[in-house]
Amino acid sequence: MSQTLAAVKGMNDLLPGEIEIWQHVEGLARELFGRFGYGEIRTPMVEDTALFVRSVGEETDIVGKEMYTFDDKGGRSLSLRPEGTAPAARAYIEHSILNQEPLTRWFYTGPMFRYERMKTGRYRQFYQVGAEAYGSKEPAQDVEVMDMVAQFLQALGLQDIALNLNSLGDEACRPAYHAKLVEYLKAHIEELCGDCHRRMETNPLRVLDCKNPKCQEVAGKGPNVLEFLCEPCKAHFDDVQRKLTALEIKYVVNPRMVRGLDYYTRTVFEFIASHPALGTASTVGGGGRYDKLVKSLGGPDVPAVGFACGLDRLVLLLKEGTRKFGASPDLFIAVADPGSQDTAFTLASKLRREGLRVDFDTRGGSLKSQMKRSDKSGARFTLVLGEQERTSGEAKLKRMADGSLIPVSLSGLAAAVREHSATEVAQRGNAT
Ligand code: AMP
Repeated sequence: MSQTLAAVKGMNDLLPGEIEIWQHVEGLARELFGRFGYGEIRTPMVEDTALFVRSVGEETDIVGKEMYTFDDKGGRSLSLRPEGTAPAARAYIEHSILNQEPLTRWFYTGPMFRYERMKTGRYRQFYQVGAEAYGSKEPAQDVEVMDMVAQFLQALGLQDIALNLNSLGDEACRPAYHAKLVEYLKAHIEELCGDCHRRMETNPLRVLDCKNPKCQEVAGKGPNVLEFLCEPCKAHFDDVQRKLTALEIKYVVNPRMVRGLDYYTRTVFEFIASHPALGTASTVGGGGRYDKLVKSLGGPDVPAVGFACGLDRLVLLLKEGTRKFGASPDLFIAVADPGSQDTAFTLASKLRREGLRVDFDTRGGSLKSQMKRSDKSGARFTLVLGEQERTSGEAKLKRMADGSLIPVSLSGLAAAVREHSATEVAQRGNAT
């Protein structure tokens, strides 16, 4: 007996019924990010493993525990991309973009892969939409990307999402903070997990995003990174806050937030939802400045800032609402007798060519079952085609909202459907 195969754990099928929400979110991102001047890029789903080790960092959970890494047939170590910033930076360097323009704005969308412990809102294949801006070290650039996320979430109609903000300093001031953090962690070594004993030596910031509750408690009482900022970093952080306020974007400063990737300098931020549908997977997006990443990957010394939002989580939030997504058919064509099937088939094709969304049952069947299907499809109008309609060229369009019948000629059907759809929309508009 053959065994039934299922999708890989943590990887989901997206089917009609739900995909319309995804299309809406992605379409909105494309339109909105385009308004900000961001152009779309598409990078491969697989990269050299070294790219992520060198950028995201060896001690991060992402690289240390969660990557899908394999050797290809040529013996190269490759990984499914766990995030989009490093591949974008690799492409930026590889195509010498800085030689072509001093300020570059890119966005991307697509699947990412992390071998994570699964729960609602946390999957092993998940989707992100993200953006990167290269070439500006100015606080205005940090705020531009945060503004873009804020406008995106607002346009999706999502509320109760808090912007958390922090600064991690730079190479001038972070060493002093590191030293203080290590001193503090050493004093609490007994309370930390085995992984954190190692992290304390190799990369102490990573102790702050350990998922172990005891480690979190210790980290929460540690030194405050903001007290260690040098003057330029402090001025940058102050200006970021001033500009957020000028744009009326609310935020809270959260000095414990470090984000789980190594490449950040100065500004980091997260958008955190409070809706119960997400449980503890409540961060819908995050990002920050990464002024040293491009250079560390062998590229020019170019500052950058970016973010990524988790589409799975945004879709979960939208599913909680009452809003309907996706377009229903404009017209359902039902046939009254088998002799009309071919005419209806040809008519459906012609109307689709003319731009209408038309549903039609290629199997024919009883009129009753076709009317049931029409109801279920949410079609705005139904047309029943039988011998009489075929010979006279005249038919009746049934408006599904109220059952009223509108006389139409078959030759002018597309125009009639459009005209009556428009009056219906206008009437609905007047009624609200
Ligand atoms: P990160 O790249 O870790 O900063 O993640 C950016 C955003 O991607 C998060 O705020 C989440 O919304 C989303 N995300 C990260 N990991 C997952 C996952 N395993 N499943 C679903 N969404 C995720």
